Amino acid sequence: MSEIDALKLQLESLQSEALAAFSAADSLNDLQALRVSYLGKKGALTEVLKGVGKLPPEDRPVIGKFVNQTKQALAAALDATEAELAVKAKSARIESEKVDVSLPGRSGPKGALHPVQQGLDELTAIFVQMGFDVAEGPEIEDEFHNFDALNIPPEHPARAMHDTFFIKDMRNADGTEPMLLRTHTSPVQIRAMKRFLAEGGEPPLAVVAPGRVYRCDYDVTHSPMFHQVEVFKVDHDVSLSHLKGVLQYFLSAYFEKDVAIRLRPHYFPFTEPSAEVDIGCVFCAGKGCRICKGSGWIEVLGSGMIHPNVLKSVGIDAGEFSGFAFGLGVERMVMLKQGIPDLRLFFENDVRFLSRMGVAK
Ligand SMILES: [Zn+2]
Repeated sequence: MSEIDALKLQLESLQSEALAAFSAADSLNDLQALRVSYLGKKGALTEVLKGVGKLPPEDRPVIGKFVNQTKQALAAALDATEAELAVKAKSARIESEKVDVSLPGRSGPKGALHPVQQGLDELTAIFVQMGFDVAEGPEIEDEFHNFDALNIPPEHPARAMHDTFFIKDMRNADGTEPMLLRTHTSPVQIRAMKRFLAEGGEPPLAVVAPGRVYRCDYDVTHSPMFHQVEVFKVDHDVSLSHLKGVLQYFLSAYFEKDVAIRLRPHYFPFTEPSAEVDIGCVFCAGKGCRICKGSGWIEVLGSGMIHPNVLKSVGIDAGEFSGFAFGLGVERMVMLKQGIPDLRLFFENDVRFLSRMGVAK
């Protein structure tokens, strides 16, 4: 075989090998590498061209023509394959970026009312249903509304029991009294009665006053900030049996079952007589358990007949009118209803606790 024929054969097999490699390429990067390995400066075709130099001068144009044809064929095949691959890559990208506009959107997590707020709403709603009006008062109070008007004069030992936060350098409008964070919602009783009378009202007056209160105290059952609901009614001939009837209805409604209640004589400065109210233990149905400490009863709130001095302090004739009042701790009520062991859970804002307790609104 002449050298020229050998070179022709070499070119033919190079071309068919290259075309096969091009059509097997499945990315533009692979194809670019093939372009370099066949047509580049150090590529296979350049290697063949080196052989041309050894041919006699008259044969060189003949084989030169073959080399050019091969080069053009390879270049054309590369361009065609490149165009195909570019189209494929584009449609793959379109496929991967396709958006189904008919899919429903992803919604964020739903918020919920805090368990204490739920408790406040639930407790207040029961009294509203019974015809009580809702009243609110300021959280920063003067001594008159927080203590004096509630029959807790200065030097009264109950003041010490209230662990009061006084506000430094803050006095009431006429400068006679220090201001404090209210220790209970009972001052709303005074404010609501005064407002009612100032507007020319005549008893009956029935009010529920939910709100935030403060005491300097912190442990598993006490927090420096907590919530109370104050309930009172003033009318002609309001008696202890009215109080007991309202308590029985309210506690059964709140715990969603017929709960037994008992009134234990107690002392509060603002009521006379006064009673602590127990319910039959909602955990053991009165049989005795750890939560009721084996007694079958759980203390839930303090109550009594409004002390005549309290009525007098707002200008209600205690001879003509009487009233009952009671106040309860919202956190305690929610803990009893939901079986929550530690009051601090309400204020630590652990989302696991809050979302388990939460009712989405
Ligand atoms: Zn029990």
